[in-house]
Amino acid sequence: MTLPQLDYLIIAAHPDDAEIGSGGAILSLKAHGAAVGVLDLTNGEPTPHGSPEIRERETNAATKVLGLDWRGNLGLPNRALVADLDARKQIAGMIRQLRPRVLITHYWEDAHPDHVAASALVDASRFWAKLSKTDMPGVPHYPTKILYFPSMHLPQHLKPSFVLDITAFHGTKLDALRCYHSQFIAGRSTEPPTLFDDVTTRARYFGWTIGTSYGEPFLCREEVGLRDLQHLS
Ligand SMILES: [Zn+2]
Repeated sequence: MTLPQLDYLIIAAHPDDAEIGSGGAILSLKAHGAAVGVLDLTNGEPTPHGSPEIRERETNAATKVLGLDWRGNLGLPNRALVADLDARKQIAGMIRQLRPRVLITHYWEDAHPDHVAASALVDASRFWAKLSKTDMPGVPHYPTKILYFPSMHLPQHLKPSFVLDITAFHGTKLDALRCYHSQFIAGRSTEPPTLFDDVTTRARYFGWTIGTSYGEPFLCREEVGLRDLQHLS
């Protein structure tokens, strides 16, 4: 099977992480014509109100809302994701086939061990993806940047490398999150603050820091360059 060539690839531990951390960025990239994909590393199950079948249906619905060009799942073990050589090789093989210019993944510090492992795996897989003389599929490829989104499980105030204006996309991001009924709605109190209130409050705060209504924060270990100064907010 030939995979599409992507401009941006989000690699996340569980289906729904990409939506929460970078749903606004995905929608913004799609609105600007970029080819965007998501690679989920596990199926995210078991959870209290989900099942593999329910989670897959919800993921497909969210994928449609986001307008993704491609989405895949590596089927690595949920709750037991480990940054080992086999997982690194599988992810690097996907990067070599999809050839994204930029990778987006979890911030490296989090309370959820799967998120920490995913972040470390993306760092290592990016490097492995460029190796020659290997039996990995695809061609040697080195994404120019890795961007990291903060996750939900470790409340901390991070200093982002930049904040993306997602004002035009925040409502649709929430629509994508609502697709994950088993994760964000079932069994949860409807009393405020709901998860959607939390997501919106954080987006409003980061939007405030750049003078817009809603924003998504990203971190990068490398310097982030600008092509021009006309679009600073
Ligand atoms: Zn997760």
